Amino acid sequence: MNFPIYLDNNATTPCDPRVIDAMLPYFTSKFGNAASRNHPFGWVAEEAVDYAREQVAKLIGADAKEIIFTSGATEADNLAIKGVFEMYAQKGNHIITAVTEHKAVLDACHHIEKLGAKVTYLPVNNEGLINLEELENTITDATILVAIMYANNEVGTIQNMKAISAICKKKGTLLFSDATQAVGKIPVDVNADGIDLMAFSAHKMYGPKGVGALYVRRKNPRVKVTAQMDGGGHERGMRSGTLNVPGIVGFGTAAEICRLDMEADTARISKLRDKLETALCKIEESYVNGCVSSRLPHVSNISFKYVEGEGLMMGFNKNIAVSSGSACTSASLEPSYVLKALGLGDDLAHSSLRFGLGRFTTEEEVDYTIEAVSKTVLKLREVSPLWEMFKEGMDINAIEWAHH
Ligand SMILES: *Cc1c(COP(=O)(O)O)cnc(C)c1O
Repeated sequence: MNFPIYLDNNATTPCDPRVIDAMLPYFTSKFGNAASRNHPFGWVAEEAVDYAREQVAKLIGADAKEIIFTSGATEADNLAIKGVFEMYAQKGNHIITAVTEHKAVLDACHHIEKLGAKVTYLPVNNEGLINLEELENTITDATILVAIMYANNEVGTIQNMKAISAICKKKGTLLFSDATQAVGKIPVDVNADGIDLMAFSAHKMYGPKGVGALYVRRKNPRVKVTAQMDGGGHERGMRSGTLNVPGIVGFGTAAEICRLDMEADTARISKLRDKLETALCKIEESYVNGCVSSRLPHVSNISFKYVEGEGLMMGFNKNIAVSSGSACTSASLEPSYVLKALGLGDDLAHSSLRFGLGRFTTEEEVDYTIEAVSKTVLKLREVSPLWEMFKEGMDINAIEWAHH
């Protein structure tokens, strides 16, 4: 077994070696600019980009012409939200999203609010799902976009995209989805799911960092976004800038591997995830966060009550890489806004760990993790006054805490 063990595949994934092999020639002998129309170096690069565009499109059931390559999902999120806001300004200025979206979506929404947009941030239930009735009632004549993520990066909850798109269709509003965590992991089909714009990223699906895509529907309806990057008019005028040819080739290869291996990968990885989760839930006072019946197959987010996630991680983080439910901001440890939106108190949010398994996770690594995490939780609880009080039957929620 190689240390450290990587269980943070929601943050990023390693490149599949097959992806690297496909990319390498495009750094050296095939280094051309895909926009160079008058010599073979350009043609070779353009051909490679066209092929990758087909591979990426096929993974999501789209047409190659509907793929706009970007630098990643953050850029695609920004292009979708700001681009629709500008392009459809005549129609209205209202956008609907949810409180558990990725910061790239939330901050793009905050940005356009300063430019006159009205944004509704829908709450979620304790599993992380939006309320469909509430969504429908929130859509007005001024609504130009509904932006709901396909699957959440912290807890893995998968939204009911088909039901959401049916509502959007009925009300005549566009649907954008940040599907960065879903694409390549679970079947995503823009037509079956009724999605008009969709963001995703290569480095979350065993491709390279710095490349992603925005899917933009071309018919029923034909969707357009105003470019946020002006220049040479690349990507049908929606995203200027010399294409990252090696990155795009890697993205295409990664997409094809995901498409071909998805079933086998999911079967293997979800079995390991379930083994991990079942074992860790044998620990007293541990709680799974998210929606167990509609969840990404490789994610498990668990709160171990009465221990602190960051402290827990320090117990083993030289050997195991995971994420905790506390986001480290400059001055303090803020509990995750996603977990808080699911209704977790600060204590449960702070005591959570996110395990993100992946294509290269082994059973041996899972077994080691079960041992190490269980031991650390028990050890920390032994020295925890809260745990002692809980064990003595005190009602800890009744204690008055000093607030600062
Ligand atoms: C990782 C992630 C992003 C950001 O993607 P980048 O390609 O790193 O910019 C956006 N949304 C979600 C849901 C993500 O998980």
